[in-house]
Amino acid sequence: MFENLTDKFERAFKVLKGQGQITEINVAETLKEVRRALLDADVNFKTAKEFTNTVKEKALGRDVLTAVSPGQLMVKICHEELVELMGGNEVDINIKGNPGIILMSGLQGSGKTTFTGKLGNYLKTKKHKNVLLAACDVYRPAAIDQLHVLGEQLGIEVFSNKEEKNPVLIAQAAVQHAKSKGFNVVIIDTAGRLAVDEHMMDEIAAVKKAINPTETLFVVDSMTGQDAVNTAKAFNDRIDFDGVVLTKLDGDTRGGAALSIKSVVNKPIKFVGTGEKMDALDVFYPSRMADRILGMGDVVSLVERAQEQFDEEEARKLQKRIHKDQFDFNDFLGQLQQVKKMGNVKDLMGMIPGMGKAMKDVEIEDDAFKHIEAIIYSMTPKERTNPEIINGPRKARIAKGSGTSIQDVNKLLKQFGDTKKMMKMMSNPKNMMGMMKQLK
Ligand code: GDP
Repeated sequence: MFENLTDKFERAFKVLKGQGQITEINVAETLKEVRRALLDADVNFKTAKEFTNTVKEKALGRDVLTAVSPGQLMVKICHEELVELMGGNEVDINIKGNPGIILMSGLQGSGKTTFTGKLGNYLKTKKHKNVLLAACDVYRPAAIDQLHVLGEQLGIEVFSNKEEKNPVLIAQAAVQHAKSKGFNVVIIDTAGRLAVDEHMMDEIAAVKKAINPTETLFVVDSMTGQDAVNTAKAFNDRIDFDGVVLTKLDGDTRGGAALSIKSVVNKPIKFVGTGEKMDALDVFYPSRMADRILGMGDVVSLVERAQEQFDEEEARKLQKRIHKDQFDFNDFLGQLQQVKKMGNVKDLMGMIPGMGKAMKDVEIEDDAFKHIEAIIYSMTPKERTNPEIINGPRKARIAKGSGTSIQDVNKLLKQFGDTKKMMKMMSNPKNMMGMMKQLK
């Protein structure tokens, strides 16, 4: 996701590489590229223009110190502005209440029912809530069945009534049921249409009025680009939702929706959907998303997810090794094996700095790992701990031993080097602070 935008940003910043300072002239060139990148990614025109204007003002006002290049400084400023554009800080979902009532809205196919399941699962497993799901799509019996299937899979009760044709009554009955049975949260899945239509809006507005939800979420398919923004506006004008869920961010999306929605409807994005599976839900962190867009890799998410799956003690040890610059191919191999266990490999690889792009066009199966593993297994223990000793003849031997080519070995060494550098930088708060100070 966001690969397009990342590439384009990178190209834009290249203009500034090797330049001594930021001037009106060289910044204009870069900003033109940045604006083009945003427009290409489906960010709306007004948002893109405002963005580049702010970045320009900030860039020209700052002195470039010798320690940072103008390109780095621009990345930093663009990062700050992207975070701002996406809402600054993350915003929590409000589930307080007895029960907390969450109303889902959105077009058909946006991923609403899938997300209802994901959110139920998230609240159950991460927040330890007793959750009830309610199916209020009275037009598509299949949608009700779909929710029942998800509920069964997740061990979450689903409330429905196929006889009743009035969604308001079903929603009210669901809330009643949740109250009497002591559920902490009820999530109401409503009917969507293929496009915005008045009847649908009336219906969802009526449901909202009747049950007075603690949180109304609007679900939108991020692959629909500019349309996503228009749909968001139509829904917000009518039902004044509290937050946005961007689904299908794992797909071939251009990412513009994430950037424009907040500025157009002024509502925070709260969650993103990154796959069809029930655990493919992430809380939306503007700053991490900005990291991703700028191609820095989402290290924090990676570490967080990794910690969830991995042995914490091991994670701590690894952190220490990264910090001391001792991260070597044995760690790399260990990480790969754990990543393999974690499923959704491509998604995770994309989060590793420097890997996202390398992995972009690669169809990742376990086979892809076999290649990498074979190369590492063909190294001697000494080579694994001190990769810098791997010279020409050693590369040839490793390639031969692993049934790969010297280019493959080179590629892996480069990826390893990039990963290590980035990890080290990110892991050292002092480094980051130092950089920040210099940037001020
Ligand atoms: P609804 O009509 O809004 O309830 O949409 P569904 O929940 O039925 O989802 C429509 C399709 O999108 C289904 O095939 C889902 O599996 C798929 N889908 C939903 N969320 C995601 C996501 O985050 N990523 C991907 N790749 N597919 C998703």
